[in-house]
Amino acid sequence: MQLSSLLDRFNEPETLKMAKLGRELAAQGHNVINLSLGEPDFDTPQHIKDAAIKAINDNWSHYSPVAGYMDLREAVCTKLLRDNNLEYKPEHIVTSTGAKQSLANAILALVDEGDEVVIPTPYWVTYSELVKIARGKVVEIRTSAESGFKATPAQVEAAITGKTKVFMFSSPCNPSGAVYSKAELEGLAEVFRKHPNITILADEIYEYINFVGKHESIAQFADLKDRVVVINGLSKGFAMTGWRLGYTASNTTLAKAMEKLQGQFTSGTCSITQKAAVVALTGDLRPSKEMADEFTRRKIRTLELINDIPGFKCFAPEGAFYAFPDVSAYYGKSDGKETIQNSGDLSMYILNNAHVSCVMGDAFGEPNCVRFSFAASMDNIELAWKRIKEALAKLK
Ligand code: PMP
Repeated sequence: MQLSSLLDRFNEPETLKMAKLGRELAAQGHNVINLSLGEPDFDTPQHIKDAAIKAINDNWSHYSPVAGYMDLREAVCTKLLRDNNLEYKPEHIVTSTGAKQSLANAILALVDEGDEVVIPTPYWVTYSELVKIARGKVVEIRTSAESGFKATPAQVEAAITGKTKVFMFSSPCNPSGAVYSKAELEGLAEVFRKHPNITILADEIYEYINFVGKHESIAQFADLKDRVVVINGLSKGFAMTGWRLGYTASNTTLAKAMEKLQGQFTSGTCSITQKAAVVALTGDLRPSKEMADEFTRRKIRTLELINDIPGFKCFAPEGAFYAFPDVSAYYGKSDGKETIQNSGDLSMYILNNAHVSCVMGDAFGEPNCVRFSFAASMDNIELAWKRIKEALAKLK
């Protein structure tokens, strides 16, 4: 069978690949701790589950409008006003089967062959691959722990060319945990004001997991709002990864374009999920707050454990639930059997010798680092880092 050339243009997500390798090792009888996936280990709050059960019993079992039921799009507008002081109308909102699909919708609606998409490193694995699917060109801006893993206005200005179509970033950032302040966003906004043809994709899926204060959206700058696409979803803040609900807020031209694409791909997301999402978005936020508090405790403990590992240098995450230490001090070291050359080798070494799955930094555009999630129980975090420390001690 001859498969399409499209498949050669992009990679499968390294995060899912590592999780799969971890499961294979577990199937052989090993106790594998999964720190590779970006998934809260909490149950979905009860009031949201109740709303889904009610939706089933009320027979919300038919196709919904492609962009989502009107009450859901209104609920998204209510949330954006309540949390972000952003005014949108339902016609600006397209709901989808997850922020991942919303990102795909936006990229496919905007990027033509040869168009450039500027992305600060480290970035979420899917960003670059979606651009490749659309035949666009990824232009990376390299950031580092020293600059707080944030792109500066000068870097963004230098990366922009006549072909730049999109700038995309996440704040809080997966994988670095960087959170852009209002002043930092204002700095970037100044650059975008000079380049009116650039659309800004702002992935805010980790909004509720923020250790430094108020979440700021680049859509707050009124003169830019029309060309910002706010991307968000329920996976992280409400522990609803499997329910599949994401959304965009954008201008209506782009909203209609994304709806058109989605109409051919999925016809929109699950009707039951949509009804539960109305309750999640407009209901009690205390469970989300409690989860965020627990992530704060785990972050603090994870950093203590990482700082105890010789050679690991870790930026203190300001949001999301990942630690992204610089592990390059181990490159060139060996346990007598294999030599660690890069972040991929080190992640495989940790998986095979400590039975902890993690994800190589190369997948995020940052070759010196490895990503470890702290969306795991405190006991598993303790055990994982004990095993990692022991395994790394064998590398000389
Ligand atoms: N953006 C980022 C930065 C993410 O980390 C993830 C999930 N890992 C997503 C988007 C996709 O989330 P969803 O489950 O809503 O598709």
